[in-house]
Amino acid sequence: MDADVIIIGGGLIGSTLALALARHDVSSIVVDTQDLDSTVLPAFDGRASAIASASARMLRALDIGAVLESDGCPIRAIRVTDGTAPQFLHFEAPEGDDALGIMLENRLLRIALLRAVRAAPQVRLIAPATIVSLVRDAHRATLTLADGQVFTAPLAIAADGRRSATREAAGIKLTGWAYPNAALVTMVAHSVPHGGVACELFYPSGPLALLPMTDSAPEGPGGGRPRSAIVWTVDAAVAAGARKLGPQALAAEIAARIDGTLGDVEIIAPQAVWPLGYHHAATYHAERLLLVGDAAHGIHPIAGQGLNMGFRDVAACAEVLVDAVRTGQDIGAPDVLKRHSQWRRFDNSMVGAVTDGLNRLFAVPGRVPAAVRRFGLAGVQRLPPLKARFMAEARGETGKLPALLRGELV
Ligand SMILES: Cc1cc2nc3c(=O)[nH]c(=O)nc-3n(C[C@H](O)[C@H](O)[C@H](O)COP(=O)(O)OP(=O)(O)OC[C@H]3O[C@@H](n4cnc5c(N)ncnc54)[C@H](O)[C@@H]3O)c2cc1C
Repeated sequence: MDADVIIIGGGLIGSTLALALARHDVSSIVVDTQDLDSTVLPAFDGRASAIASASARMLRALDIGAVLESDGCPIRAIRVTDGTAPQFLHFEAPEGDDALGIMLENRLLRIALLRAVRAAPQVRLIAPATIVSLVRDAHRATLTLADGQVFTAPLAIAADGRRSATREAAGIKLTGWAYPNAALVTMVAHSVPHGGVACELFYPSGPLALLPMTDSAPEGPGGGRPRSAIVWTVDAAVAAGARKLGPQALAAEIAARIDGTLGDVEIIAPQAVWPLGYHHAATYHAERLLLVGDAAHGIHPIAGQGLNMGFRDVAACAEVLVDAVRTGQDIGAPDVLKRHSQWRRFDNSMVGAVTDGLNRLFAVPGRVPAAVRRFGLAGVQRLPPLKARFMAEARGETGKLPALLRGELV
């Protein structure tokens, strides 16, 4: 065998998994179709992600926490409202506790991961590469690349994203649907400081999220003013038009929906539109194959949980595989793969169902549904145990946590 695992896809999840395994001396060959240096250019992915506190602990345990401290913006509180109604649900990190999460540009996380993966002797990164075939049998997975290279390992892991060709070739079925809306993503500089508060304003056309970022660079766009990432869910039919709005028109549209929360708003990054959908693989494993991250599941970004679900897959997968290696088991044996699936399936199903339900609940137009929602928000606000439960879910702190999410190497 050429490595302990072959990882197909070196995106945020594939490279974090390679690193987590490397920290436990489990070797991997990571193959990606893209030149990964191009994925760290600002034009490739203008998104920022809310990294939940448990995921942040894992990144620190993997020695890439420095980027969270230098460029991440702690989320001290989350405020959920039905449009700009006065009733709201307010979650706040207790004094002296970890922040609820950390906002970080995906590009910066990719740079830190790529650097760490390249420095890890246990990881062989091959990108860009074209996969000709992945053949799996009872003993091994054999990967053949277009340049003639052939690699074998006892296990292949698909981390090749929501359109996973590996999942499709394995004949694993998906449950899924496309939402009738798309996410318009951009960045704004503003005159009123955000105070580390993330706001989620729900409108029948879709939620608008204002996510606190570190201040803009004094010499760059925004001129040192406070900055927030915007994820605005719009009807798919109007997304194309919204994309063509000039910066001033877009700033006016956003300002009209946030009721002066951020003061004067200026667009400081190009806007990008992301199609939105839900999918869940019927199974996470097949012969000598495991699915992780968006290859296994994809959800609406309403609660900023997609990447965090993938990070939780990484932590569980690393723990199961490292345990198998230490106890002399075959890392690709059905029992080992089943252990990972059983650990992760329930959490992923629950988060998928809750985010889908939230999206549908707030999409119902009309005064009566709005009144019911506002009553519900005010009710949850007055029930501390229920609020604490929601907060723990958002932070990724529920269920049996793998060691990495507790900030420990196994
Ligand atoms: C608008 C928006 C906002 C979001 N915000 C958040 C947030 O705040 N918090 C959060 O937790 N999540 C968020 N998410 C979700 C998050 O971005 C995804 O869940 C995450 O990026 C998935 O990572 P991944 O590595 O599994 O897949 P990808 O990022 O899709 O990576 C897949 C990798 O596989 C490679 N690849 C593809 N096909 C092949 C192949 N055939 N062979 C080899 N390699 C291949 C690709 O080149 C890529 O590098 C958001 C999503 C959207 C759309």
